[in-house]
Amino acid sequence: MRINVTQSFLPPIEEYQQYLLKIWDNKWLTNNGPLLLELEDKLKEYLNTENLLFVGNGTIALQIAIKAMELKGEIITTPFSYCATTTSILWENCQPVFVDINASDSNINVNLIEEAITEKTTAIMATHVYGLPCDVERIEEIANKYNLRVIYDAAHAFGVKYKNKSLLDYGDVSTCSFHATKVFHTIEGGCIISKDAALHEKMLLYRSFGHLGDEYFSVGINGKNSEFHAAMGLANLPHLSEIIEGRKQVFNGYDAQLDFDKMYRPRFESEDFEYNYAYYPVVLKDEATTLQVIEALNKENIYPRRYFYPSLNKLPYLTDQASCPVSEEISLKVISLPLHPELEPEVVTKVSEIINQYA
Ligand SMILES: *Cc1c(COP(=O)(O)O)cnc(C)c1O
Repeated sequence: MRINVTQSFLPPIEEYQQYLLKIWDNKWLTNNGPLLLELEDKLKEYLNTENLLFVGNGTIALQIAIKAMELKGEIITTPFSYCATTTSILWENCQPVFVDINASDSNINVNLIEEAITEKTTAIMATHVYGLPCDVERIEEIANKYNLRVIYDAAHAFGVKYKNKSLLDYGDVSTCSFHATKVFHTIEGGCIISKDAALHEKMLLYRSFGHLGDEYFSVGINGKNSEFHAAMGLANLPHLSEIIEGRKQVFNGYDAQLDFDKMYRPRFESEDFEYNYAYYPVVLKDEATTLQVIEALNKENIYPRRYFYPSLNKLPYLTDQASCPVSEEISLKVISLPLHPELEPEVVTKVSEIINQYA
């Protein structure tokens, strides 16, 4: 059987069917339906946050946030993330300005942010890579000093707590992805969390073409999501703690069996940090070794992913390719290992043995 980097969690089918029966009763399939409102309420309660919008995916969440905050000019961002972080900046006609990362946790290096700020800078958009928190305190300080907005691409951070609150509660806006590959999913989906109630209302309008009924307020886009997606979220949410616990077992299995003389794992250590075990990345010696390890695993039908590769400052369609040596180097020699609650301990052992052998 093929073993991928992840396997989407599916709730017991009866639990999903209960919600389908409600959809059949309501005959309401999309556009702010009752299940969507119920999911938004449950997410707000779970995240202990007030302003939350359930949207079509994690990318439209970023687009709507950038648009609604009227960001222009340059946005400081990380080169080490999924491409959607960069492309959403470009899509809104802003210029991504890449700031290199820390080797230790693979997040944006806050000591390099100030020198990247110019009079055109309007915002900082950073990713909590692998669900590990950025230096949110320092970023807030810098943003206040230079009057910049802060958006976190928190696509990996659902279920992460930092200093006793959800990691999604930091920044002016945090966005999350509920794509099928993420820790918590609604098949396709995402959310936008914001501090400012007026901004929230604006984004609510943007999510559905800028109008409410017959009142037309602004331009907008279709960022809505359906009752079927909300139903998957409602069925999955009660299983979240068991999903995270299952991931933790696998994660600890790798920690116990990998040979850390030959590799390291990006990490964030703090007593105030509760992790969601979203990813298990390992950074190997060099790219040649990494490709050998991937090939050896593929021979056993095991498919890790190069998260994240390429370093986004090297995307071929960028006209101005900044240099980010740490990100560029790590992107060549990092892989994320198979990690999901149902992964068997024997597989974890086998993956670890192969990596130890070829690393
Ligand atoms: C998954 C992901 C996204 C995109 O989310 P979609 O829901 O697939 O649009 C954006 N940023 C990061 C860091 C991601 O991992």
